[in-house]
Amino acid sequence: MNKLAKRIFDSDPYLAELDAVVESCTSIKEGHAVILDKTIFFPRGGGQNCDGGTIADIEVLDCYEENGEVLHILPQPLEVGQAVHLAINFDNRLDHMQHHLAQHILSALMTQMYKNDTQSAHMEEGYGHIEIERPLSPMELVELEQAANGIIARDLPVKTAYYTPEEALKIAVRGKITPHDMIRLVEIEGFDINACGGSHCRTTGGIDKIIICGTKEVRGLFRIYFKSGKAAREEEMLRTARLIAAQHALGVEMTETLADTAKNTVDLLRAAEARALSAQAHLEEADLERFHLACEEVNGVPFLSRIITDHYNAKHFKAIGDKLVKAHKAVVLFALVGEGETSLILMRPKGGKTPDLGAVLKDLLAKFEGKGGGSPVMAQGQLNTSAPEAIAAIEEAFAALKNELQA
Ligand SMILES: [Zn+2]
Repeated sequence: MNKLAKRIFDSDPYLAELDAVVESCTSIKEGHAVILDKTIFFPRGGGQNCDGGTIADIEVLDCYEENGEVLHILPQPLEVGQAVHLAINFDNRLDHMQHHLAQHILSALMTQMYKNDTQSAHMEEGYGHIEIERPLSPMELVELEQAANGIIARDLPVKTAYYTPEEALKIAVRGKITPHDMIRLVEIEGFDINACGGSHCRTTGGIDKIIICGTKEVRGLFRIYFKSGKAAREEEMLRTARLIAAQHALGVEMTETLADTAKNTVDLLRAAEARALSAQAHLEEADLERFHLACEEVNGVPFLSRIITDHYNAKHFKAIGDKLVKAHKAVVLFALVGEGETSLILMRPKGGKTPDLGAVLKDLLAKFEGKGGGSPVMAQGQLNTSAPEAIAAIEEAFAALKNELQA
């Protein structure tokens, strides 16, 4: 049989079951690749996933095209000449077809209405996305959604046919045509013609509904998320609940002021974040000066050991320690006592064999449970206790390190 005529899904995308005969079965890395005399399994490609389902009650693992043949990948082999029953997962097929045809309509409308051509399209289970050249405004997206649902309401027939490349060139086709022996054109009657190998509903009414449900700027393109069919109905049902939840979260009375309030809130948060960063930098500078002044001279080396009980974060003390070590070649020992835990930050300049700060931390971790580690010059960890005996052990370890420096 001619390879194109074997593709029953091309002419009848609504056929969910079929009897066929195994033409060949080859063992490959992923399993067994089966070619049938005819098939209803749509192979993955063109942004559309392959169909799931069974052949002779065996789950199809994957389905793709190679040299114009559809390969069905099974976990076990079939015999050549064997008669088999095929069944696809029709709910998924319908979801694919609805989202895929919705993409044709949205892409055609964006070209027609905004001269904004589709750069790529992708379908997932229950939603799809299209990437276009330039952003569309929220009102343009609403206009687009309404126009798309207008095309659905007109229930326009969707026709597919194969053409030679010469024939296809004479037809006004939207978008590029990838060179092939035979070109499959999909026509939404009186609305759009596009070259496509995918599966589509028989009429635009089969999509039921299109909802635009999100946007994102990505790689210099503008991505539009959309849902169709059952997924669009669910989205529609949940939309009001989501709006009201957002309205509660932002303390807004009417949803009409939601966007402005959300924008103001984000602006305020960003400003507060910038102020916090600047305050943090000032605090770090002040603490650096304070702790530098507090360093003792031990055998010609600036030495600082502190048990800190007020709440600063470890990142702050690590940054100060780094600067004291780098700028003043200081030995810095911090213990930050929290509730039921104590963080340790031990640092000294590189060079010389002692003191081994990693070994000191390891000793404390052996006595009290916790985690952490490090090298002779830099060790950081956390004990799972803030009990007085742990603090006493830390003070003792810090004093021993000072003695070691003095020796
Ligand atoms: Zn298509």
